[in-house]
Amino acid sequence: GTPLIRAEKLRVEYRGRSGGRVRALRDIDLEIVEGETLGLVGESGCGKSTLGRALLRVIEPVSGTIDFLGLNITGLSGPRLRRTRADLQMVFQDPFGSLNPRRRIADIVAEPLLRARGASRAEAGPVVRELLERVGLGAEAGWRKPHEFSGGQRQRIGIARALASSPKFVVADEAVSALDVSIQAQVLNLLTDTVRERGLTMLFISHDLGVVRHIADRVAVMYLGQIIEIASRDDFFSGPAHPYSDALLSSVPSLRAGGRRERRVLEGELPDPANPPDGCLFQTRCPFAEDECRTRMPELREVAPGRTVRCHLPLVPTEKG
Ligand code: SF4
Ligand code: MG
Repeated sequence: GTPLIRAEKLRVEYRGRSGGRVRALRDIDLEIVEGETLGLVGESGCGKSTLGRALLRVIEPVSGTIDFLGLNITGLSGPRLRRTRADLQMVFQDPFGSLNPRRRIADIVAEPLLRARGASRAEAGPVVRELLERVGLGAEAGWRKPHEFSGGQRQRIGIARALASSPKFVVADEAVSALDVSIQAQVLNLLTDTVRERGLTMLFISHDLGVVRHIADRVAVMYLGQIIEIASRDDFFSGPAHPYSDALLSSVPSLRAGGRRERRVLEGELPDPANPPDGCLFQTRCPFAEDECRTRMPELREVAPGRTVRCHLPLVPTEKG
């Protein structure tokens, strides 16, 4: 497929507690294809949210580029950035955590349409009413305030808001993680249905592998600011190629069902991101580490069609040739 968005050597840094620089994103190369849902997984603090925000131009990289539909958007500012932002939207974990509780739902949902697309209130009205119907709340919900809604309903409103400016790319960051399990499936189904109806491309960030298996076409795994594996959903869940992915997956009992996979407990602590190990960043916790792993950083390379792994000794056979 055609790449909708592509990151090249994307690097984001911030100042760590000890004053040193932490690389939150270490030269990320990533392509997200038009119409796909890419699941992005990894432990908290690995850089998933940072990557999502950098792709939306909410966080500025120190180097690297982002192409959106073939246009380098890294240096955009002013009106051109604002127009591009209309195509790039986010569904947050709790969209009302930081919002003025006195605003009406209709204003909250309309905001990206007014701000990024420059629509008038009169133009926004019917769009907002239709979206509130679509997410199952009814147009009259627009008159009410955030506190009148449950967590699941608020997430429906967050989805409506993300769709209001007719974006092409949506980042959902832990979009259902704060919801009761009984509500999660409904909201996930709404998200997948609306994304499919509109042919949207989505980056779905989650620490929950069960949810990612349900929703993603492909899966990317991050560790300490690097992407360490990218694979199709089926390849990934039937046998991940990176030892870290394998450990992540083996820690979820329901994903081990079928009995073949043994439980592999991750040894050791996540290294201090300001002071990462030499060689492979996973070598301090990897059960398969050899001498080479301690001195040489593995490249992200394709080991089979559509399967990219950053490991000297991947768990799937390497293609000959
Ligand atoms: Fe483990 Fe070595 Fe692969 Fe790193 S490169 S994941 S240490 S086997
Ligand atoms: Mg996060």
